[in-house]
Amino acid sequence: MVKEIYIAGEWRLGRGDKIQSVFPADQSVNAEISTASLDDVNEAVEKADLAWRQSSWRNSMPHERARILYKVADIIEARVDELSRLQTRDNGKPLAETRALTLSAAATARYVAAACETLNDELTTQRAPDFMTMSVHEPVGVVAAITPWNSPIASEVQKLAPALAGGNAVILKPAEVTSLIALELAKIFEEAGLPKGLLSVLVGRGSVIGDAIVKHPLVRKISFTGGTSTGRHLAHIAADKLITTSLELGGKSPTIVMQDADIELAAKGVAYGIFSSAGQACIAGSRLFVHHSIYDQFLNRLVEITKGLRVGHPETAGMHLGSLINPKHLASVDAYVQLAKKEGGQVLVGGEALTEGDLAKGSFYLPTIITGLNNSAQTCQEEIFGPVLVVMKYDDEADLIAQANDSCFGLAAGIWTENYRKAWQLARALEVGTVWINTYKKFSISAPFGGFKESGIGREKGRLGILAYMQQKSIYMGLSEQPNPWCD
Ligand code: NAD
Repeated sequence: MVKEIYIAGEWRLGRGDKIQSVFPADQSVNAEISTASLDDVNEAVEKADLAWRQSSWRNSMPHERARILYKVADIIEARVDELSRLQTRDNGKPLAETRALTLSAAATARYVAAACETLNDELTTQRAPDFMTMSVHEPVGVVAAITPWNSPIASEVQKLAPALAGGNAVILKPAEVTSLIALELAKIFEEAGLPKGLLSVLVGRGSVIGDAIVKHPLVRKISFTGGTSTGRHLAHIAADKLITTSLELGGKSPTIVMQDADIELAAKGVAYGIFSSAGQACIAGSRLFVHHSIYDQFLNRLVEITKGLRVGHPETAGMHLGSLINPKHLASVDAYVQLAKKEGGQVLVGGEALTEGDLAKGSFYLPTIITGLNNSAQTCQEEIFGPVLVVMKYDDEADLIAQANDSCFGLAAGIWTENYRKAWQLARALEVGTVWINTYKKFSISAPFGGFKESGIGREKGRLGILAYMQQKSIYMGLSEQPNPWCD
């Protein structure tokens, strides 16, 4: 049976072509899903615009919106096993990872609920005897939320929760290959009591349906997570419409292992930073710089750890890496490894797809370490979005900083050292939005997240994350009982 989509609070077949959700591990079909047509986009956006203007939503008390988000969190947690399995079927990540993402989505909804209840407007008066000023925050209106396939439930709740908490309506356009979880989220928000029309989940191709959503005149904000070239395209549309964007884009994050690093801690941290999610993470620590004095020792240990990682069926417990998202992406990852060899790189470990047995049906790629390249190589500059690490040696710190910053991206970085003073100085010198010191890929919902340079614009998360979905208004109230003397 073809799956229905969620258009302005109603479940029905989209009027576009149908698509298939495929399990990346063996290419079996999970479901057939209808997609939205341009008419569906129009209808969803127009009804969303009516819905957020309803005074029952616009003027609802923060605790009323929070109550919905608390319920969303509870439902997600209660259904964690089922939702994790669904996400694994959609994108091929190991169950342990999709479980962590699902729980983090619940935690996000709960955190945003609490933040929503504690946000204040400001009284901005400075000793003016005859008037008082206030700065209040208001919704922007209809928000287009567009998400990628690598961590769908987490990135979707990260947008839905603050946008709805801010009193807006949302049109969610998930990545076409991972639409199932977004449709489940619509059911969850519906069950939690979200009024009709405030959320639509429009499945469809980015270049057609995504494009039509963001170009719709009633859409007043774009919240996008995905590749840099798509982000740039959306920024052009936003510039034409003079609306705001939050863009969470790609990365090629440097990780630095200094001469005094704890080798075991750093080697395991580096392996996790690049190879978890099979490297399909915007924040993957994909460029490694190791101090020359410990280079051989460190690399030997890293190679040993990498050889011990288990690549396999994502539904089998204990796997470190599952399948890449699809054969096309596998071919792209492998093409980068071949390019690295042409550029003079040596593959120390990995460097190939699994082509035998049951796993050959999926898109499994071995965790790969490449040495012998210069930071200016194409392999070191472009985002591969797969389990491929390039390793470089450094000795001079100023040169290290220059190389680490020599990237169009600026999403994240890792530093491994026992010297916290040094780590602090390095952290401040790196042009990135997040720095991990002696840890990697840890997230706190209370810490704002976003990129420098071509890794993005704006920040998500944090207590004030809701404000990205609101606009400020200043209101002046006269207090004087005397008429304005200007007219005298
Ligand atoms: P993508 O840019 O191809 O697609 C992302 C979303 O945009 C999808 O829903 C897609 O359908 C939609 N889209 C594509 N073209 C569109 C258009 N013209 N108009 C409107 N929507 C359009 O990215 P992807 O391949 O799905 O995801 C991988 C990328 O996402 C990587 O570059 C990764 O680094 C990035 N990413 C960034 C973060 C972050 O927080 N910075 C997090 C996860 C992924």
